[in-house]
Amino acid sequence: MQGACLLLLLGLRLQLSLSLVPVEEEDPAFWNRQAAQALDVAKKLQPIQTAAKNVILFLGDGMGVSTVTAARILKGQMDGKLGPETPLAMDQFPYVALSKTYNVDRDVPDSAGTTTAYLCGVKTRMKVIGVSAAARYNQCNTTRGNEVTSVLNRAKKAGKSVGVVTTTRVQHASPAGAYAHTVNRNWYSDAQMSAGAKKEGCQDIATQMVYNMDIDVILGGGRRYMFPERTPDPEYPRNGRQNGVRKDKRNLVQEWQDKHQGAQYVWNRTALLQAANDSSVTHLMGLFEPGDMTYDIYRDHTNDPSLEEMTEAAVRVLSRNPRGFFLFVEGGRIDHGHHENIAYRALTETVMFDNAIAKASQLTSEADTLTLVTADHSHVFTFGGYPLRGTSIFGLADGKANDGKSYTSLLYGNGPGFRLYWGLRPDVDEIESMGPNYKQQATVPLWSETHAGEDVAVFARGPWAHLMHGVQEQTFVAHVMAFAACVEPYTTDCHLQPPTIPMDTAHQAACPSSLALLVGILLQLLVPALH
Ligand SMILES: [Zn+2]
Repeated sequence: MQGACLLLLLGLRLQLSLSLVPVEEEDPAFWNRQAAQALDVAKKLQPIQTAAKNVILFLGDGMGVSTVTAARILKGQMDGKLGPETPLAMDQFPYVALSKTYNVDRDVPDSAGTTTAYLCGVKTRMKVIGVSAAARYNQCNTTRGNEVTSVLNRAKKAGKSVGVVTTTRVQHASPAGAYAHTVNRNWYSDAQMSAGAKKEGCQDIATQMVYNMDIDVILGGGRRYMFPERTPDPEYPRNGRQNGVRKDKRNLVQEWQDKHQGAQYVWNRTALLQAANDSSVTHLMGLFEPGDMTYDIYRDHTNDPSLEEMTEAAVRVLSRNPRGFFLFVEGGRIDHGHHENIAYRALTETVMFDNAIAKASQLTSEADTLTLVTADHSHVFTFGGYPLRGTSIFGLADGKANDGKSYTSLLYGNGPGFRLYWGLRPDVDEIESMGPNYKQQATVPLWSETHAGEDVAVFARGPWAHLMHGVQEQTFVAHVMAFAACVEPYTTDCHLQPPTIPMDTAHQAACPSSLALLVGILLQLLVPALH
């Protein structure tokens, strides 16, 4: 959705919003009925204890619980509702746990240490990826011998197809946890590495993405790290700053294509959608920007796919493997919006992330697909001030502050939104606060807002989702996925029955009886594409 359009929508909502309380909510019977229905659903919950054929991990980078709540209200309001009552796709998952996100050396973590925890199952230091805490930041010679392996890698070894989808560059910290071992998260290509690190034999993240393992689907941004320096970018051929950057003159996209028969590289939306529907495509790499993909509100909708479209393309290609798949999907720019103190960007990205979750839930079955939704860490982003129900999520808190000025209900603990005019906090009005570039006020001045250290949620659906309970170390996420899918280190003692799905396509629901099986097969013959 375009920014102006959303603003208009929220503006309309605002006009209607003088303390809206739906009349049915004044009646206790409304709440009792609603709770009774929820109780009924809860009582019928049955743990699914068969093996997960497929695993999808959705990672909202920086998507703390306050972000989830605010995005819920935004999505509801975009849909013409008041907001807080309207569930997100992730809200509909039956199980939730809390995840402790700290790195071994920091109470408040970064995305590199945390990706190692939730993808490899081992906690480590800040700024390093796919290596244990015995390795040291930026010391190349501490890499070897300290590598830890991702669940994605182990799923590949077990014969599953694997994919990585992100709105950042595919060499960024979170996706790199799926395939890389590096003591410096910024070694995107050899151009970012020191001469010493290269001499000692450390490899950049882009090279590792191509050579460490066989990833079937790679979608996101990050073209510039794949091509020799001065190679013009296909989308921005006249902009030298978007050129390839590799000093070693290698064309990693070509090398990747040479490795796999049936490998296709695309760099725009049209080619992606074609490739996803082409059954001769066995491997798909789509890089849609030289660096990170643009925020969805600024995306060129004809040239670049949405996260939802990338997720659907990945599921379609990966689900051709009868042994199943592991897919990592990152809403990577939620984090960036927060670092800028621009909640509009962070929250619209979160809504787009939730749309991708909804799409994957439609395309897969709870009976054979374990889906987890979590965050690597939170942000110092708060939502308070008793705003009236129905007020735009980007609007003002109710009443004035002690300085006689208005304030927004969304605020930050620190970051570039800190402002003083003549030593005083600036006033803010509703029109200003709802602008797509508005920086919410922050208490402490910093060029970039920081992450926060409180726990994040893990939402779970599918086989063994019920293991997601209580307060867990973030490493638990990787271990639940590995156990449910019967991959290392849970292969030898894995006695899990296969899923009770009669057909091997990922998107068809379980049919327990033989009659249902027959009907299913007939349907499959008659209706080749149900979606
Ligand atoms: Zn961050």
